[in-house]
Amino acid sequence: MKDDKIWLSSPHMGGKEIHFINDAFENNWIAPLGPNVNGFENDIQHYLKTTNGVAALSSGTAALHLALILAGVSAGDLVICQTLTFAASANPITYLNAKPVFVDSEDLTYNMSPDFLKLAIEGCLATGKKPKAIIAVHLYGMPYQKEAIEEIAAFYDIPVIEDSAEALGSSYKGQKCGTFGSFGILSFNGNKIITTSGGGALVANKERTDKAVFLATQARDNAPHYQHSQIGYNYRMSNICAGIGRGQMEVLDNHVEKRRAVNSFYRSLLQDVEEVIFQSEPDATYFSNFWLTSIRILPNAKGYTTTDLRLALDAAGIESRPVWKPMHLQPVFTDCAFYGTDVAENLFNYGLCLPSGSNLSQEDLNRISDVLSQFFELN
Ligand SMILES: *Cc1c(COP(=O)(O)O)cnc(C)c1O
Repeated sequence: MKDDKIWLSSPHMGGKEIHFINDAFENNWIAPLGPNVNGFENDIQHYLKTTNGVAALSSGTAALHLALILAGVSAGDLVICQTLTFAASANPITYLNAKPVFVDSEDLTYNMSPDFLKLAIEGCLATGKKPKAIIAVHLYGMPYQKEAIEEIAAFYDIPVIEDSAEALGSSYKGQKCGTFGSFGILSFNGNKIITTSGGGALVANKERTDKAVFLATQARDNAPHYQHSQIGYNYRMSNICAGIGRGQMEVLDNHVEKRRAVNSFYRSLLQDVEEVIFQSEPDATYFSNFWLTSIRILPNAKGYTTTDLRLALDAAGIESRPVWKPMHLQPVFTDCAFYGTDVAENLFNYGLCLPSGSNLSQEDLNRISDVLSQFFELN
């Protein structure tokens, strides 16, 4: 099987998923409700060690959309968003005809710069508009600077929507990511740390998650007929997908362990390569699930670039991917405000994500090791 493609991050089943799906079939719970949905929500709540509610939804994007609605965002409002992220963090702002205001990253975690966050809020206030929410992201599983971000958010009294789509299993000072914000978002897309084939969740106080479930099931009023006083959505997770999720929750900690081991593998392999810098935990209070291991190759005398490395890996059938292209540089967001310098832009220019799946075999790692050793001329 030497010629098999090695993927950046692929689904990794634990084995029990099929039992939960069979249960759903036997009891005919083939719907966007049922015991697996409730069970999956309980599993997540338990895992996050939170008293908050959990609403299982059709995607992380849907969870962000509902969080913005519950934060009171409407047409013409401003919403602050980390620029270095996947487009799904920012797109839902535009679903509500609100306007994203993008904020640069800091080098340490790759996440939202507290300094530029403050400048962005002040900038919005100077135009007479207080931002309605702050979307901060734990990029590649690395927790953002929780205390600094929260202090600023509290000072200006703006809710934080914590995009924890990549950070299930990560924590800061022992507190699980997904439980920091007024709203926490999870994703179970196919390439995330666990998957339901597609899905997401909203974590927030019970009143809010109840409201989210109401909106996610077409906002049906309590009446025998179909009565609607609000616009609703079809955003609930199906009982089949939730069955996959319940099986995946049993192996989540194992996936985190494996991804962290893959990260250690890259670190020891490349420890003597001066031009390579890893996205790293700033100190022991940060715990990343290392959903993806990401490195930067700084400009160097030997002249090798991230593009060269990506192409060398690709030639060997190994997938790698540039760091997210910042939102303020995306054609679709050119008319949006941006506060920052070139930190996110440089992370994009020099950054590369390496294969990080929890299902990488020793043979896969050997193949990757061969390419990296040759590329960086290691002996
Ligand atoms: C995957 C992801 C999302 C969206 O989740 P989906 O379930 O794919 O809709 C949002 N934000 C970030 C940072 C992500 O990586």
